[in-house]
Amino acid sequence: MEIKKIKGNTFCITAGMTYIPFYKINEKEIIMLDSGWAKGQRQGIDELLEKNNFKVVAIICSHAHVDHIGNNTFLKNKFNCIIAMPVYEALVCSSVINLKLYYSNQTLSDVALHFGHMVCQTDMMIYDNQNSIYVCGVEFKILHTPGHSPAHICITTPDDVAYIGDTLISHEVMNGSKMPYAYILTEDLLSKSKLYDLKCSKYIVAHKGIYNEITGLITDNINFYKNRAKAIYILIVGSMTMQDILKTVIENFNINISNRYKYTLIERMLRSYVEYLNETGLIVLNMDNGFLKYSKVNV
Ligand SMILES: [Zn+2]
Repeated sequence: MEIKKIKGNTFCITAGMTYIPFYKINEKEIIMLDSGWAKGQRQGIDELLEKNNFKVVAIICSHAHVDHIGNNTFLKNKFNCIIAMPVYEALVCSSVINLKLYYSNQTLSDVALHFGHMVCQTDMMIYDNQNSIYVCGVEFKILHTPGHSPAHICITTPDDVAYIGDTLISHEVMNGSKMPYAYILTEDLLSKSKLYDLKCSKYIVAHKGIYNEITGLITDNINFYKNRAKAIYILIVGSMTMQDILKTVIENFNINISNRYKYTLIERMLRSYVEYLNETGLIVLNMDNGFLKYSKVNV
């Protein structure tokens, strides 16, 4: 794990397949954009902060996923820092019960066990109509990019560096990804298109890249997600339940399911693609002898 200078006072922590940006207010105080993953990154981030004698005064979060807000409460307890987050994301991680709404296919006990550490207290809510936020006297611009998660945001620092979060993924991640995650794919594709109008001098993609220009990457992302949906569409033969589609996709995409948590994650990922195919009119959902089944629309 190391620190990489991006531009002006904007830096980022390189942590495996993730970039965690931060903005230096002065030699000691920093504002982090997301706080990283607890399991694989907490120790490294903590050591890096100690080594550089940094004090985290605030964390602005792009969205409430386990690899982005996993150290919020840990850092808040340590530095008493402010946490700012889009209002819906803040509500999701405000309690284990609210997290259960998001991870609805897992039991409450499983949610508590695996995601309980995500629960945190948000001090500053970012509303849907808000285009900027002042944190510790520093203005950050906000672009709302819902879809990957319900209220995902991109955050631009005063150095004109945009943190894109998970609205885009790098080519490297695309190459290794069989079915990348989107909570609502239809919205996610609209948000990706929105980025064509975001003109900044640098862009940081969480997983994982730093770019001067992202036009090509946006187009490649949109095509990649649409092509994944198309590959799932091809596998739908006759009328199939969600379980039937899942079984076929796991086999054909050669997805390794080692435990039931991976299964529930893949199930959730698939749902977004199937809903997208349904919403765009390529497949329909009908009742068939007491089962809900999807089939292709005859063209
Ligand atoms: Zn995410």
